[in-house]
Amino acid sequence: MTPDGPLIVGGGMAGALLALLLRHHGCPSVTLVESHPLPTEAPPETPSFDARSTALSAGSLRVLEQLGLLAPLLERAASINEVHVSRQGRLGLTRMLAGEHRLPRLGAVVENRWLGYLLVNALYRDDAIEVRAPDGVQAARRVSDGYVMTLNDGSERHTPLLIAADGANSRTRDWLGITARQQDIGHDALIANVAVAEPHQGRAFERFLDDGPMALLPLPDQRMALVWTGPRDQVDAWMALDDEQALDALHQRMGAAPPALTAIGERHRYPLVLTEACAQAVPFGAVVGNAAHTLHPVAGQGFNLSVRDLAALAEAVGAAAHPGELARLSQWQQARRADQAWVTRASRQLPEWFRVRQPLFAHSRQLGLLALDLLPGPRRDFARRAMGLQ
Ligand SMILES: Cc1cc2nc3c(=O)[nH]c(=O)nc-3n(C[C@H](O)[C@H](O)[C@H](O)COP(=O)(O)OP(=O)(O)OC[C@H]3O[C@@H](n4cnc5c(N)ncnc54)[C@H](O)[C@@H]3O)c2cc1C
Repeated sequence: MTPDGPLIVGGGMAGALLALLLRHHGCPSVTLVESHPLPTEAPPETPSFDARSTALSAGSLRVLEQLGLLAPLLERAASINEVHVSRQGRLGLTRMLAGEHRLPRLGAVVENRWLGYLLVNALYRDDAIEVRAPDGVQAARRVSDGYVMTLNDGSERHTPLLIAADGANSRTRDWLGITARQQDIGHDALIANVAVAEPHQGRAFERFLDDGPMALLPLPDQRMALVWTGPRDQVDAWMALDDEQALDALHQRMGAAPPALTAIGERHRYPLVLTEACAQAVPFGAVVGNAAHTLHPVAGQGFNLSVRDLAALAEAVGAAAHPGELARLSQWQQARRADQAWVTRASRQLPEWFRVRQPLFAHSRQLGLLALDLLPGPRRDFARRAMGLQ
C-alpha cells in the first residue's frame, strides 16, 4: 500500500472546506469520505448542507475568496451591512455598521445548500481530491506512520493524517482516542425562512428575549432567515402554531425594528448539545469543525471559528512532508487556543448575560449595549473579533 495524503472523514462544511484549503496550501492529495451522496448537478442534502443558512463573517469570506469561491457565493448570498442588537423590554440597542470598519460588508448570509453546491463542485474539479461519497469507514488501525482505514467496500487507505470532521458525535474522534465533553442545555434552535414586506437593506437583527436569543438574517429576494433558540417545551409550542400565529408571535417578540414579516416557510429544529473535544491534535490525527467544538448558535460563530481553525491547519500541514507530526499539530492547536476560548466563552455566556432579570443587572446590561453603541473603541474591538478579523 502506497502512503496517501490526509484522509478527512466527514464531507460537511468543515471537511469539504478543509480538503480545498489543504490543496490550496500545497498538499499533493487528499481523500474525503462522506456518508451521504455529494452530487454535483444539484445542491447536496446532507446533515450539514440542509435547510439552514449560515452567516459568514468577513474573515470567512476572505478565506473563500482565496479559493475563488467568493464571487459565485455572493451571487446567491445577502450582504450584512448592519447588525442591530437589542434586548426585549429594554431601550439599549447597539448597531454595527460595515462602513465603520471600512469593509464592503460585515459578512454575508448564504443558504447552506448553496454553500454545499459550491464546495462540492470545487472538490470534484480537483483531480487530486478523491471524494468517496456515499461511503464510510468500517475500521481504523494505528500503524507506525499513520492510520490504515478500511472503507465500506473493504478497500484500505493509508493516511499520514486522519482528520475527524464527522460532526458532534464523531466516530473518528473515538478512533483517535479523543473523548469529548457534551452538555445538553435543554434548548433547541428553531429555524425558518420568512418573507418581508420591504427590502431588508442588508440589516441583521439579534434580539435577546427572556427565553432565548432570536436572530433575523438577510437573505436574497426579500427574505430573511430566522434562528430562535429557546427551552424545548417552548419550541414545541412554536412548532405547533399555524403560520399566521407563528408570524404574530414573531412580530411581538422582534419589536418594532425589523421590516414586517409576511410569510413563514417550513420550520425545523435542532437540539443544542454543546460539545468540546478534550484534544484536537494527537499523533497522526486532528479534530475539526463540530467534532472539535459545537457551539450555541447565538452569534453565528460556530462555522466561522472553524474556518479560522481550518485555514490555520491547512497552512501548518498542507505542504509538510510529514503532516501528521505531533509537534506540528500541537503547535496548530496551541495557536488556535485563545480564539477558540474567546468564542466558546462568549457564545456560552451571551444568552445567560442577557437573561438576568434583576433590575440592577438588567440596567447594567442595558448600559452595556448602549455603551457598546456609543463607545467606538470597545464596539469596534468586539465587532472585529466577531467578524474574525483579529
Ligand atoms: C441552527 C444553527 C444555526 C447556525 N448558524 C451558524 C451561522 O450563522 N454561522 C456560523 O458560523 N455557524 C453557524 N452554525 C454552526 C454550523 O452549522 C456548524 O459550525 C457547522 O455545521 C459545522 O460543520 P461540520 O462539517 O463540522 O459538521 P456537520 O455539519 O455536523 O457535518 C458533519 C458531516 O460528516 C458526515 N458524517 C457523519 N458521520 C460520518 C461518518 N461516520 N462517515 C462519513 N461521514 C460522516 C455528515 O453526513 C456530515 O456531512 C449554526 C448551527 C446551528 C445548529
